[in-house]
Amino acid sequence: MSPETLVVVDGVCSVGSEEIRMDEWGIDVVITASQKALGAPPGLCVLGVSERAIGVFKARKTPVPNYYANWNRWLPIMNSYEARKPSYFATPAVQSVFALHVSLKQIVAQGVEKRFALHKEASTKVKKFIHDLGLTLVPTGLDHAANGMSAVYYPEGIAATDLLPKLSAHGIVAAGGLHVEIAAKYFRIGHMGISVTEPERGHLDATLNALKASLAECGYKPAL
Ligand SMILES: *Cc1c(COP(=O)(O)O)cnc(C)c1O
Repeated sequence: MSPETLVVVDGVCSVGSEEIRMDEWGIDVVITASQKALGAPPGLCVLGVSERAIGVFKARKTPVPNYYANWNRWLPIMNSYEARKPSYFATPAVQSVFALHVSLKQIVAQGVEKRFALHKEASTKVKKFIHDLGLTLVPTGLDHAANGMSAVYYPEGIAATDLLPKLSAHGIVAAGGLHVEIAAKYFRIGHMGISVTEPERGHLDATLNALKASLAECGYKPAL
């Protein structure tokens, strides 16, 4: 137990697609971005911060070695806005803020519980398809695998430079690996946002069919 420790979650690919209960779970900071499961263009960093974390921040003795990302500059502005008073530090990226607002309104209108369930359902479908193709996921168990994306090892003998361009030719952009130790060994398929909440768009099926076809074009034959 470490009651003094602040718990900070990198929620970039989970906020909006994954159950997160900040207060209930005692999380102090959830940090995310506009472009993934929140479904808005990139450009905004979005933070949820607990009272405790704000308290720790206010009590810090060392100066913040940052100008724009210094909460000392933004908190008074936010307090003023909440009090309906004009205030200025720097012009925010207003187009991005409007886009995020639209996205958040859609998310709230649908209801987050429904959204979590839809992402879980889509993830189960994708992961089952991957398993049935004979491929292996990077997470070692489904109980701790993300619901907003799937990280998948390339099959033996097939590299990123074989598979990703073929997927691309089918109109599907998959991302390469990021984890330094195994980056070249796996790829990522995102299944979040409208691709999941508006299944009538057919994004998921198109992606899975393209994956199967691209693997076949690479000469891959699933082991029976
Ligand atoms: C995408 C992602 C990032 C990187 O965010 P960028 O804004 O693209 O730099 C960080 N953490 C997680 C968990 C992510 O999924």
